[in-house]
Amino acid sequence: GKKSPTNLNKLIDDHLRLAYQGMRVNDKSLNVRLLTDFDPTSGIVNVVPQDIGRVLLNLFNNAFYSIAAKQKDAAVGYEPEIMVSTRRHTTSVELRVRDNGLGIPQAVLEKIYQPFFTTRPTGQGTGLGLSISYDIITKGHDGELSVDTQEGQFAEFIIKLPLPASS
Ligand code: ADP
Repeated sequence: GKKSPTNLNKLIDDHLRLAYQGMRVNDKSLNVRLLTDFDPTSGIVNVVPQDIGRVLLNLFNNAFYSIAAKQKDAAVGYEPEIMVSTRRHTTSVELRVRDNGLGIPQAVLEKIYQPFFTTRPTGQGTGLGLSISYDIITKGHDGELSVDTQEGQFAEFIIKLPLPASS
């Protein structure tokens, strides 16, 4: 794919809807509140839209999966939630995807970017999503991908994409 000027907030919103619909097809009982906080000044970024779209679908699908897994045996009162936000900084734009699912234990955290690493049951996960996402963000876009998590509480993936010097 080729880089082209892309409305980041719209790209995120489109893929969030897509992932949500896919999730609902698989599991009609899952009620997830989607919260978005888009910085209107995030504007236009120069990215490969298909590649960033793929990263977004990976992150959203992982978030839905983690929430579904937690909801299976969660206490009453558990309110599944995915929060997606953008923030424009001086030389970069930051994108966060946060879910209040299972969170990521330390031993798992060390391996999540390894190709074929998955904690999903056999046949349910390729373990390639985050490794491909990492390459797309770092090698493909000179960006950064990091994660903040607390086991049992939340997982938050943070993407930083550099902005052109003139924008
Ligand atoms: P897959 O989703 O096929 O397992 P990924 O590379 O996308 O492959 O993710 C690797 C592993 O990272 C997952 O199996 C899971 O253990 C962990 N992981 C990723 N995203 C989340 C999340 N939002 N919450 C909890 N664990 C996660």
